[in-house]
Parts: sequence; structure tokens; C-alpha cells
Amino acid sequence: MPPTSDSGWLEVTDKFTGESIGRLPVADAAAVDAAVSRAAAAFPTWSKTPAHRRASILQRAAELISSRADAFTTTIAREAGKAWKHSANEVARSVETFTFAGEEARRLHGETVPMDASAFGENRIGFYLRSPLGVISAITPFNFPLNLVAHKVAPALAAGNTVVLKPAEETPLTAVAMAACLREAGLPDGVLELVHGDGPGAGNALVVHPVPAKVSFTGSPPVGAHILKHAGLKRVTLELGNNSGTIVEPDANLDVAVPRCVMSAFANAGQVCISLQRLYVHESIAAAFMDRFLSATEALKVGSPLDRDCDVGPMISDEAAARAEQWIHEAIAQGATKLAGGRREGRLVWPTVLTDTRPEMQVMCKEAFAPLVSVVVYRDYDEALRMLGDSPYGLQAGVYTQDLRKAFKAVAALDVGGVLVNDTSIFRVDHMPYGGNRMSGIGREGVRFAVEEMTNVKFVCFNLDSPGR
Ligand code: NAD
Repeated sequence: MPPTSDSGWLEVTDKFTGESIGRLPVADAAAVDAAVSRAAAAFPTWSKTPAHRRASILQRAAELISSRADAFTTTIAREAGKAWKHSANEVARSVETFTFAGEEARRLHGETVPMDASAFGENRIGFYLRSPLGVISAITPFNFPLNLVAHKVAPALAAGNTVVLKPAEETPLTAVAMAACLREAGLPDGVLELVHGDGPGAGNALVVHPVPAKVSFTGSPPVGAHILKHAGLKRVTLELGNNSGTIVEPDANLDVAVPRCVMSAFANAGQVCISLQRLYVHESIAAAFMDRFLSATEALKVGSPLDRDCDVGPMISDEAAARAEQWIHEAIAQGATKLAGGRREGRLVWPTVLTDTRPEMQVMCKEAFAPLVSVVVYRDYDEALRMLGDSPYGLQAGVYTQDLRKAFKAVAALDVGGVLVNDTSIFRVDHMPYGGNRMSGIGREGVRFAVEEMTNVKFVCFNLDSPGR
């Protein structure tokens, strides 16, 4: 697409070297309006395109992404600063997301309704269909520049919607490459439009535009709240943040739990919405757990995301890294003890482990979105559950235990979108229902669940008693 605006260019940088790796035209309100108009014009034809055809395009796009896995991995590693192995993992997951979406396109269906269950419904046949909403405004964050874009675009297209996507301004190049795969797979013009720019500019224009039927947003809670206030009469899905936690009970298998907790706290430099930030470890295993947890943390390789053995790359910006450092210093000044890390060089923040933290410290009660974890040693399981649940967020939580009664107690006690037993908060595969409660958002993704939220139910009823002429 040629530049749609003369209001400027968006420079995209390599987050490790700072070097410029691309530039894209910034969309002003007029360019956003033009993109929405093209998506609206494409809707009547796309929404009537047979399901098998929509499915084939999505499946073909999955194949194209897979065949370009190395190029996608490099782009993610450079523009997001995500370590190579985690970038490669994101690419593999997005191939699954597109594949699942192709499958969902083929099985999008309604149900019959037993009308005569009501005394007022005798001699009627009722059923419902699912129809696409129209144009969907999709706004995505920097931390999964491919798979979180896929989680909006693929289900929307599967259901017959058209989309205007504004990827995060820090990481738009991956989305551009993904859109190219869809075009090559046969997606008609106008069905997916991309607009670039920052939140208050292109993002806001997409939220307040009267034509889109829905805003699907993944990002931070303050922006989510702003969108809800300004979207008007649109459907809104919000996938927001969390200060995720996990409990490790005495019967946990530490060979499994320790490396998993390390990965969960520090992958993508902690910039994952379900990153492990609060870790509750039972006192009877605390010494053994911490010994292994700290040596595994200290063994992590921090540096260039393009190194195949890198574990932790740079944070997304100097400001984000400085903020993480400031929170760590503040917690220490308030009485926390640093057990590992705490060092920063530019955007690199070394994996940091704190203890002696209190619930009111920022590192505990807010979303850190940084490579830092606080370890709390507890005595009583009920107390650990209470501390884990004491959060305004409610996305996912983990519990390591072999005791089914304890596992189900956690399931009942925690007001979250997902409880992971014998895993940490970070587990996700792309067809499971995923989303948060309270400050973590509204609605669910996970391909089938996103498709449901991107369709309207159309009920149909035949009155069999209607006399003919
Ligand atoms: P962000 O909220 O700063 O930005 C996300 C997107 O919103 C970007 O594209 C941005 O340009 C846009 N935006 C910003 N202001 C806007 C406005 N006024 N109107 C419209 N759009 C606007 O978030 P981020 O820093 O990119 O990502 C980090 C946040 O995302 C964290 O809070 C994290 O937990 C959350 N997140 C949640 C999930 C989830 O699935 N629940 C997944 C990943 C990230």
C-alpha cells in the first residue's frame, strides 16, 4: 500500500542495537477513515465468501508463515527485542493460530432451539445462525507482534468480518509481513487494512470511528479503560494486564517446577501479560527451591536477541527499563531484599529476584512487565491462596500440587480467567479460552471464543400454525 498520509513516518528500530530497520507511513484521521471505508466496501463480498474458501486462505497463510519462519523470527527478535528461541516459539504458535482459524471457519454454526419447551412456543421451529459483525478495529501491543495480531485477524476473517489493524508502533513490521502472507494466500483487497501510528493518533481514530462494529484491543489497562469510554455503541473486547502469581506446594516436583518458574518470570524480559511476577513457595521447600531457582536465574544469558542461546533480550524502551530499575530500587528502599539481578545497562535489565516484599509495594500490586519476580515464603495453603487472589487483576494463576483437593480449592477460590494446575500462570495454547476478569479485561480470545465474540446471533423462527391463503 502506498503512503496514505503526508503526516509523517514511523521509524522502526532494532531494540538491541538501536539501528533503524524500517519506516512506515503514519496514518492520520483521514487515512484511518479511508482504510475503514475500504474495509467496509470489502465486507459485503467477503462476508458472503464460502466458508471453505475463507478456510483455505487462512490455511495457506499458515503455510506461508511457516515457510518464512526464520524471517519472521528475525523480525520479531529485532523489532521487539525478544530472544531468538522465544521469537521462534511465537512464530510456531501463530502458525497454529491461523490453522485453528481455518478450522473454525468451516465449523461456524448455530443450533436449533426447542421452541415447544415454552407453552407459548408450540408449533414453531427455531434456530439461530451466526453472522459476521462488519468491520473490526484491531489494536495490538508490542510484546507478541505476530501471535497477538493473529489472535485478532485470523478469527475475524474466519467469521467473515473485515479488519482494520493498528499494530503497536514499536513492532509493526511483523504485522506487515503477516498481511503480505494473507494477500499472497488470496485474501482480497480491502479485507485486511493496516494503519500505522501511535495510540492517541491512529489508534484513537480507529476507536472513535462510527463505522466499525467492534474494537478488539490487547494492551494496558489504562488504555483499555480509555477505549471502553470512547468506543461508543460498539462491541469491545479488552485483553489487559496482570500481576500474575503461582503457588508452589511442598509436593511439587522441583525438577519440573524450578525451570518452568524461571522461564515464566524472565522470558521476553518479563514482558508477557501472564509473566510470573509473584511466586509463593511453601516454607518446607523454600530453601531447596530458592537454591535451585537462584542458580538457574543467574545462569540465564542476557544480551543480543539474535544469539541463538540468548534467554533475556532488551526491554522495549529505555523508559520501560528505567521504570523497572526504579521499582526495584524503591522496593529495596522499602525493605525488600535483592537475591539476584538488579543490574541495568540501557534497555538490558538482568533477571531480578526479590524477597521480603510486601503486598503494597509496586513490584507486587501493579503489573511489573519487566524481568523481576518477588518470592513470598508461606506456611499455610489457604493463606497463600488468599495472597495470590488479592489482586485487582484476574488473568491466569498457577498452582503446583499433586493434591486434587488443593487443586480444586484453587479453582474455586481464584477469580481469574484461567487456573493452571502443575504449571505457572504463563501457560497458553492458542485454542483454549483466554482472557481476564476485573482489571484484566472483558471477553475471551482463543480462536473459537474470539470467533463467537466476533459474530452476531441471528435467531430464526418458523410459525407452523400460520394458515395459508
Ligand atoms: P499499550 O496499552 O501501551 O498499547 C497497546 C496498543 O494500544 C498499541 O497499539 C498502542 O498504540 C495503542 N494505544 C495506546 N493508546 C491508545 C489510545 N488512546 N487509543 C487507541 N489505541 C491506543 O500496551 P503495550 O505497552 O503495547 O503492551 C503492554 C500491555 O499489554 C501490558 O499491560 C500487557 O499486560 C498487555 N497485554 C495483555 C495481553 C492479554 O492477552 N491479556 C497480552 C499481551 C499484552
